[in-house]
Amino acid sequence: MAWFKKVRKPIEPPSDKPSRVPEGLWVKCPSCAEIIYNKDLAATLSVCPKCAHHFRLGAAERLRMLFDGEWQEYDHGLRSTDPLSFVDTKPYRARLEAGIEQSGLNDAVICATGRIDGIETSVAAMEYAFIGGSMGVVVGEKITRAIERAIERRLPVVIVSSSGGARMMEGALSLMQMAKISGALARLDRARLLYVSVLTDPTTGGVTASFAMLGDANIAEPKALIGFAGPRVIEQTIRQKLPEGFQRSEFLLERGMLDMVVDRRDLKAAIARLLRFAIVGSAPPPRVETAPPAVAIPDAFVPQP
Ligand SMILES: [Zn+2]
Repeated sequence: MAWFKKVRKPIEPPSDKPSRVPEGLWVKCPSCAEIIYNKDLAATLSVCPKCAHHFRLGAAERLRMLFDGEWQEYDHGLRSTDPLSFVDTKPYRARLEAGIEQSGLNDAVICATGRIDGIETSVAAMEYAFIGGSMGVVVGEKITRAIERAIERRLPVVIVSSSGGARMMEGALSLMQMAKISGALARLDRARLLYVSVLTDPTTGGVTASFAMLGDANIAEPKALIGFAGPRVIEQTIRQKLPEGFQRSEFLLERGMLDMVVDRRDLKAAIARLLRFAIVGSAPPPRVETAPPAVAIPDAFVPQP
C-alpha cells in the first residue's frame, strides 16, 4: 500500500450545529473590512466609523435621519396595476408582491411632510430595496403629488434619490414620469420655492436624467455612483478606457455636475442651512396682472368713515 494513501479518515468538517452568534448582529465594511456591531452602525447613520464608507440607507431610516421627529406620510396605499401585463424571467406582478413583502412598502418611494431643523418640508425618499428603487407610475405620481403639495402649502422640497432608473416593466409609462416630475418642478420653481436634490448610491438612468439633477442645489453622498448609462455600456460605445473614479460623486463635483458632496453625518445640517437661506427669498412673486393701477393719492387724503 502506498505510503501516501489516506488511511485515517479526514478531519470532520464542522457539524451543522447552529452558531450561537445570532444572524445579522455584525456587518463587515466592504471598504476596509472592519467588523462593525449593528447597533454602532445605526448610531453613526450607517457610516463606517473607521473609513467613512456609506452603507445604503432605506427610505424610512432616511426620513428618521432628516426629520426632527414625527412626520406625516402621504399616498402610502398607491400600488402599480401592471398596466402592460409584463413578464420577463418572472411576471411583474410577482416582483411587485415580493417587493411589497420584502420592504413593507407598496412602491419604491415614501413621501412625507415634517420638520427639518424646525422648517416644515416636503420630502420624498426612494427605497432601493423595492425593485432597485426603479421609477414606475406610482413613484412618478407620488413624487409629483409631493411637489404639488409643497406648492399648495408653500414648502421647500427635498428628494433623496436611490434608484436604478425608470422601471422597464412599465415601459413608456415609466419614461413619462420623467417629464411629469420635471414639469411639477418647473411649477415649483415658478412659485419660487426651493428644491434640494440629494443623490445617494446609486442614482442612475432616468432618475439622473430628470429630477435628480434639477435641484436648486444638488448634493451627493461621498463615493455614490451617479450616472446615466453604466460604465460598461459607455466603454463599449466610445471604445475607450474610463478614468479612475468615473461616475462617483467626487469626480462629478470636480467637473461641475454637483454643488456639494456631504458626509451623511453632516447632511441634515447642510440641508437645514440651505432651507434657512432660501426662506428669505421664498416670498410669493408679486401678481402683476391683478395689481391695481397706480393712482396718485393726494397728501391730504383722509378716509371717510
Ligand atoms: Zn470601513
